[in-house]
Amino acid sequence: MRRVTERAIRAVAVFCGARDGVDPRHLEAASEVGRTLAERGITVVYGGGGTGLMGAVANGALGAGGTVVGVIPEALIGPELAHPDLAELHVVQTMAERKAMMAELADVFVALPGGAGTLEEIVEQWSWAMLGYHSKPCGFLDVLGYWSPMRELVAHMVGEGFLSDRGAAMIRFESSLEPLLAALEDA
Ligand code: AMP
Repeated sequence: MRRVTERAIRAVAVFCGARDGVDPRHLEAASEVGRTLAERGITVVYGGGGTGLMGAVANGALGAGGTVVGVIPEALIGPELAHPDLAELHVVQTMAERKAMMAELADVFVALPGGAGTLEEIVEQWSWAMLGYHSKPCGFLDVLGYWSPMRELVAHMVGEGFLSDRGAAMIRFESSLEPLLAALEDA
């Protein structure tokens, strides 16, 4: 049952790897994230791909009867194997349009394990939140400690005086989804 809070989350933008990763538990965790969001009645907004953790999140949500919205640049439909089963797949022209549409559709941003694309997407949203361009909370789902180096980097930035405590507090880290959603709801 969906929790009723002052700031109920209706849609989550999920950023994650287009690859499977080495440890199969990452795929399992991604599928579980999709399933849990669907069960809570939360729409999954993601990049529309059918591969790797991206595909696993979508399949997990679709398998639980959830709503999944994909946003993919036309040039990536082939390379990222656009998911064939999405009721809503927006085809855009540029990566900037993809990110803008995902940001528009989502209430919060969550990064699962992933590569450079995942990192770029979540850090962009975090930096925009710090600049006041939006007020949507951002967080890393730290599956199996994958994002520990990122957490250390954030602390290092604060320690070296390049990031404020307030800015650091605007990106959340949790190792499982429910606490992360709770933190983002409260943010
Ligand atoms: P990755 O984490 O590198 O596996 O990429 C995950 C997703 O991020 C894929 O759908 C990529 O198309 C996307 N992506 C890659 N580079 C960027 C970028 N510079 N900005 C936004 N998204 C990107």
